[in-house]
Amino acid sequence: MNLVEYLKKATDYLERHDIASPRLNAELLLSSMLGISRLDVYTGFERALTEVESREYRELIVKRAAGAPLQYLTGEVGFRTLVLEVTPGVFIPRPETEVLVEKALEVLPNGEMDILDLGCGSGCIALSIARERTGARVTAVDCERTAVELSLRNAERTGLAERTTVLEGDLFEPLDGAARSFDAIISNPPYVPDGAAESMMPEVRDYEPTRALFAGPDGLDVIKRIVAGAPEYLTVGGWLLLEVDESHADKVVELLEPSGDSATPRMEPARDGARWSDIEVCDDLAGRPRVVKARLASGGGGDAPD
Ligand code: GLN
Repeated sequence: MNLVEYLKKATDYLERHDIASPRLNAELLLSSMLGISRLDVYTGFERALTEVESREYRELIVKRAAGAPLQYLTGEVGFRTLVLEVTPGVFIPRPETEVLVEKALEVLPNGEMDILDLGCGSGCIALSIARERTGARVTAVDCERTAVELSLRNAERTGLAERTTVLEGDLFEPLDGAARSFDAIISNPPYVPDGAAESMMPEVRDYEPTRALFAGPDGLDVIKRIVAGAPEYLTVGGWLLLEVDESHADKVVELLEPSGDSATPRMEPARDGARWSDIEVCDDLAGRPRVVKARLASGGGGDAPD
């Protein structure tokens, strides 16, 4: 069989197993396995697969048909201007998060700045900011060793390691001594309510890390901790940008809004009376509210000197 015949068989198999875009999946798995471009698959179609390659391709197709995410099988994902490595055990970067980065870039003019990415996963947010804002120094934190190691590898492969620090720990915990030093805190934290597991796509629920997905009964456990802790680590005037679930964007706004300004009482008191201004909910490309941003007006570890 030549490559095109392999592709045809693989496409039919994926289609029978209800995989969306079966041809594209078959092409991407073949080109990534052979280390060639998708175009090369066609221009080199007279080439046959060796026995080893043919077995390996079959295994990849069977895994994909069973629901394993394409990106875990190819080991790569495109995110904004970057091509990043991705491995099982780490959340696969999503297009929604590209919107989060875009919203961050809108409020971060070029120049020297320090940016914190909480729950960095593959490092996609921190590294995109470093790539697109050449004056930025980025700190990426994750509680999972696999994610920390992957972010470090991605910093190396994108040539951004010099301006990137990756720390292992729970949210702000590894940042001792860094109080008041960040111009922006950006995070795509886990935000799926625990009870939503049933209705999730099995491809996500069964393959991606539970800890990167779920965050308590209302999905707000991690977001609440970020909102409570952020003032201590932001400069006054610094930005907090969070990716949220469309069903709870309003609740995140309530967490940020000074008491009295909102119809609903605060869900949790802000640490040291921090106040937020410029609170805004931004929509994704499909018009769903997916990003909440706010600016630290005052409070936290004490106002900055004039
Ligand atoms: N920040 C990472 C990303 O956006 C990881 C997100 C997560 O693990 N919830 O891909």
